[in-house]
Amino acid sequence: MAISHWKSPPVAHNLCCYRALHTTTTRTTSSTLSLSQRPLRYAVVGAGFAGLSVAWHLLNSSGKNLGLRIDIFDEVGIGGGASGVSGGLLHPYSPKGKLLWRGAECWNECLKLLSIAEAAVPQDFNEFIVRRRGILRPAMNLKNLLILNDNAQNCLASCRIETIDQDAAQNLTPNLCLPFNSAFYMPEAVNIHPQRYLQALFLACENLGKELSNSGFGVKELHLHKNSIHKLLDFEGEYDAVVVCLGAKADLLPELSGRLPLRTCRGVIAHLQLPDDMGEDYPDHGPSILSDAWLAFQGPRSLYMGSTWEWKSRNSSPNVSADESSGALQELLPKANVIYPAIKDWTFTGAKAGLRAMPPLTPHGSLPLLGCINDVIGGNYACNFWLFGGLGSRGLLYHGWLGKLIAQAMLCSNEEMIPTELTSWKKIKR
Ligand SMILES: Cc1cc2nc3c(=O)[nH]c(=O)nc-3n(C[C@H](O)[C@H](O)[C@H](O)COP(=O)(O)OP(=O)(O)OC[C@H]3O[C@@H](n4cnc5c(N)ncnc54)[C@H](O)[C@@H]3O)c2cc1C
Repeated sequence: MAISHWKSPPVAHNLCCYRALHTTTTRTTSSTLSLSQRPLRYAVVGAGFAGLSVAWHLLNSSGKNLGLRIDIFDEVGIGGGASGVSGGLLHPYSPKGKLLWRGAECWNECLKLLSIAEAAVPQDFNEFIVRRRGILRPAMNLKNLLILNDNAQNCLASCRIETIDQDAAQNLTPNLCLPFNSAFYMPEAVNIHPQRYLQALFLACENLGKELSNSGFGVKELHLHKNSIHKLLDFEGEYDAVVVCLGAKADLLPELSGRLPLRTCRGVIAHLQLPDDMGEDYPDHGPSILSDAWLAFQGPRSLYMGSTWEWKSRNSSPNVSADESSGALQELLPKANVIYPAIKDWTFTGAKAGLRAMPPLTPHGSLPLLGCINDVIGGNYACNFWLFGGLGSRGLLYHGWLGKLIAQAMLCSNEEMIPTELTSWKKIKR
């Protein structure tokens, strides 16, 4: 692993918190001087939704005068795991239309990050990063219809849920079939292109680092290393803090093996295109669709269809064999056909897959796992080790707000800044 041999003295973390969040440190004593002269050094392990959100928030929440070096490590590169292959669908509701735990904060912070990423790319970049066309969820049975109707009453003003009938739905998507003549339309929901989004978010981190370095006294450095990390303790002595954002592969680290309450679940997504000589273009204003299978439209003749759920799989390869893709198509096409029969005109062009890290169910739903993990690892370390994992099937929704929370907790070395609902997994006996 190419970690350069920069040696850090143990950090006085309450001082560090002060320096991190306040920009007006008075540098009078010699000890303050020596601390403030050397940069804090943080490692972010994993460059998916979780890792890049933490990196952005570490930069953004650190004080202007704080010298900060962030090293991001990923064995594949940006978006090398589940984030890069995900469907990119984003809204703050459960399948029953219920607002998720702290759904408003998650939704708002995620939208902010999406806009930050969009603003980072050159103006002549003309491929979409965020597709703002809404998402439609047809009611699939009577019970589902009643529950969705009930929950829709408590939707966010910034992500409305409108109940619409078949005629209204067909104005959005001409070939749509609603088994119960009713669908729940979220006009503000979006889908993103995950790889473009992650590349743009990394660019935003680089831009922010340069901007902050030019406007304050503290230099901010950001480095991306294409390295596989085999052991967390290799970071000890080199870094002030390390955050593990390895998705489903977090428990492959020897220090975390068997200590995280995570289950893994592989999902396959198929890419379909509408041949030039076939059918009608999908309308430009047409929403993506969430049903027993989901359809994330990428344009008038391109869509992603997902997803399968293979529990307990440890296969994190994005590559999908001919057998696996034909199994996925056999499972997904009939489900898509119920609501969008025109799917028969679309041609399969390829498949990709990712491994989800599924957290345990709590009274608040399935929540990601956050917190300082020095106690989980055991031992007395100068470096603080943190975890941001278990983003399950909603990584996009969670990465913004929770990335901000963990970055601020890292800068202050204070786990109590994270809501206990997200750290209580550590009490689970394993
Ligand atoms: C098929 C599918 C569809 C999905 N659709 C959606 C969706 O529509 N909306 C949504 O919100 N969520 C969706 N998800 C869930 C979402 O993808 C995850 O919640 C999210 O990607 C998790 O992000 P992460 O950063 O924690 O992990 P990852 O994206 O997996 O990132 C981990 C990174 O760590 C790197 N890495 C792993 N091991 C090492 C190592 N030893 N050393 C260095 N680097 C390493 C990997 O290369 C990877 O880049 C979907 C997931 C799947 C599988």
